[in-house]
Amino acid sequence: MKNSILEKLTVGIFGCNCYLIGSGIKKEIYIIDPGAEPNLILDKISQLNAKPIGIILTHAHPDHTGCLKVLQQKFHIPIFYNQKEYKHPILMKADRWLNEGDILAVGKINLNILETGGHTPGGISLYSKDIELFRGKKYDGIIFTGDLIFRRSVGRTDLHRGNKEHLFENISKKIIYNPQLTDNFLILAGHLGLTTIKEEKTLNPFGNLFLKPEDWKKNKYYDKDLKDILKTSIEERP
Ligand SMILES: [Zn+2]
Repeated sequence: MKNSILEKLTVGIFGCNCYLIGSGIKKEIYIIDPGAEPNLILDKISQLNAKPIGIILTHAHPDHTGCLKVLQQKFHIPIFYNQKEYKHPILMKADRWLNEGDILAVGKINLNILETGGHTPGGISLYSKDIELFRGKKYDGIIFTGDLIFRRSVGRTDLHRGNKEHLFENISKKIIYNPQLTDNFLILAGHLGLTTIKEEKTLNPFGNLFLKPEDWKKNKYYDKDLKDILKTSIEERP
């Protein structure tokens, strides 16, 4: 869709990617993961002459929610995230809980919700087939993955309430081998640069842990030497 807004802003010392997505005609947008630097986000919003209609959190870690309150109080707009994240001590309650299969719409853009816990229990991803262009490149669609999967990396699971098995199961089933998505989907992750499903299928260093759904049986998973790989490789990352 030509008349759409999609902006990626990298904010804060942890380099959280905050996204603005919405309709280029009505100029209504959602803010995804307002992690820090509210002035930078506000400047971009006014440059676009856009009107925020809601704030979506992929998960509740502070580097993704740092200026939630500031923006909510400025625009008086609803907050959306998955209820399992509400246990986070500093988080404001959502106006609506997002669950698997839910759709958030803005203009003619639908954002489809996937529950993709692992990095945190209530982490979500959002995909849309209604945006095909970003920075001059053409895709079949886009997916926001929060801290589930990054360009050439995956989310940590050694933090509070992380779960490695859930992380890899969700990356495999909901992202890499999700029949709703194609290889040419743009991955817009919570940190780091742009990538696609195809690139991560082949170039992600954890790619041997992305199993096809038919291979995803607990026993088979552990039959491979994956348990050991999981033990060492994940905790060593920053
Ligand atoms: Zn996180």
